[in-house]
Amino acid sequence: MKTLRLVLGDQLSHSLLKDCKKQQDIILMGEVMDEATYVKHHKKKIILIFSAMRHFANDLRQQGYQVDYITLDDPKNSGSLTQEVARAITRHQPTRLIATFPGEYRVLKNMQKWSKLFNLAVEIRQDDRFLCSPEAFSAWAGKRKQPRMEYFYREMRKKYTILIKDNAPVGGQWNYDVENRCPPKKDLIIAPTYQAKPDGITHQVISLVKKKFPDHFGEAEPFHFAVTRKQALTALKQFIAKRLAHFGDHQDAMIQNEPWMYHAHISFYLNIGLLLPLECIKAAEKAYEDKKAPLNAVEGFIRQIMGWREYIRGIYWLKMPHYAKSNFLAAQNPLPDFYWTARTKMNCLHQCVTETKQNAYAHHIQRLMVLGNFALIAGISPKAVNEWFLTVYADAYEWVELPNVSGMILFADGGYLASKPYAASGSYINKMSNYCQSCAYKINQKNGADACPFNYLYWDFLVRNRDKLASNPRIAMMYRTYDRMNKDKKEAIYLDSKQFLDSL
Ligand SMILES: Cc1cc2nc3c(=O)[nH]c(=O)nc-3n(C[C@H](O)[C@H](O)[C@H](O)COP(=O)(O)OP(=O)(O)OC[C@H]3O[C@@H](n4cnc5c(N)ncnc54)[C@H](O)[C@@H]3O)c2cc1C
Ligand code: SF4
Repeated sequence: MKTLRLVLGDQLSHSLLKDCKKQQDIILMGEVMDEATYVKHHKKKIILIFSAMRHFANDLRQQGYQVDYITLDDPKNSGSLTQEVARAITRHQPTRLIATFPGEYRVLKNMQKWSKLFNLAVEIRQDDRFLCSPEAFSAWAGKRKQPRMEYFYREMRKKYTILIKDNAPVGGQWNYDVENRCPPKKDLIIAPTYQAKPDGITHQVISLVKKKFPDHFGEAEPFHFAVTRKQALTALKQFIAKRLAHFGDHQDAMIQNEPWMYHAHISFYLNIGLLLPLECIKAAEKAYEDKKAPLNAVEGFIRQIMGWREYIRGIYWLKMPHYAKSNFLAAQNPLPDFYWTARTKMNCLHQCVTETKQNAYAHHIQRLMVLGNFALIAGISPKAVNEWFLTVYADAYEWVELPNVSGMILFADGGYLASKPYAASGSYINKMSNYCQSCAYKINQKNGADACPFNYLYWDFLVRNRDKLASNPRIAMMYRTYDRMNKDKKEAIYLDSKQFLDSL
């Protein structure tokens, strides 16, 4: 039985090859224009995926697999995934097609039509790179009104016996987050992020991307992402050896001109299959056992992958397709231009957007507390914010981007994912970063032309959304504080916010 096995650009692991017959089966891979352009992805993201695909295909060929690889500039390339599968079926006349469960709902819906369309047996296999299937997540979440990540994470730790001793969490606690809020200190020594040297294949892809996607967001070069599994494993090893020990303490810290901090910088590789979640988790657990990293750092890192990453994916498949349309706070404002240009006097936003353009990366707290927080309190429409986050990061795929944006930062799902909106005034940014020291606005000023816009927009956001948020016990106290303000203060908050938002 000749089988056509479709490997998508974010599925570069060997999961689909387990029962592959090298002499008989064909592995289909293609660089498809529709996928590269449904949003104008950062140039570095397209380079990463195409180069990693080409390296993966070469690796498979060397192992004796038959790979049918369609390059973007192949004159016969139709630019559509479905059309490319159709053309390959005509070329190879397989008796069945096997694909892996994709990362996006719209791709799944297309795949589900293929059997009828091609009059062929189509098998969509579970993506076994994840630790919790959508069905298992649904069974867990279905029993709960508000399925919180923390409880899901504990179940996962038990299921995979990670940081567990004698049926209890190592150290006595499940979560050491309270220890992970150290503000940035002066003179931190931060080990640099992994930088691969681009080879001939990557150089070819860089030229292709510059030629075909000149108007896409971000800078193509310098390009240093890992594009092979071997390189990605080196990136992981370097993180474990050189940064993991400080990951916890400085997880929330932001320092001007330090885009990478102590984070792992592996989401790009995890999300395309060059790294597998369990190997990252076990490498961190081993560092703890070998006394190379403290428990707060190791537990914090493991929670991100075993907890947050799996939970976010579970929410995506549980709640799609309507999750994409959710807008609980009815936010309607357009995305300010500075999210693309970085031209703003707000130094925190200027820094985060500039680094995003350069690196196709911003670490979690920049995405959450600066870029996300501003989008929330400025009332920007979830559709526009989601499109931006999907466009600008090299690790962005809808399954992970959408719940983080609509659920975690915008509260667009009305609190299904997060128990309260992550809205904050400038003081948290000031506490966790040194951005405010070089800002045109004054962090300690609450109102007026020089005041930090986060300070008045925070209150204005609460007032604008009072009918929807006042009953939330986690923010009720903030409404009591607002109510105690005098009339002039309330008026100043309203006028400053109006003037600022109008100026955007
Ligand atoms: C608004 C917003 C949008 C985001 N969009 C994406 C996205 O498109 N793609 C993406 O992979 N992550 C996204 N994240 C989650 C997180 O910010 C990134 O995974 C992280 O910054 C990647 O960098 P790192 O590898 O250095 O991560 P680290 O901070 O070192 O964490 C280790 C790993 O944990 C996982 N992880 C941590 N937090 C999350 C989370 N909230 N959701 C899912 N996985 C998590 C990632 O795989 C990450 O590589 C988003 C977060 C926010 C607040
Ligand atoms: S003062 Fe306000 S706008 Fe400026 S960097 Fe600080 S938080 Fe950002």
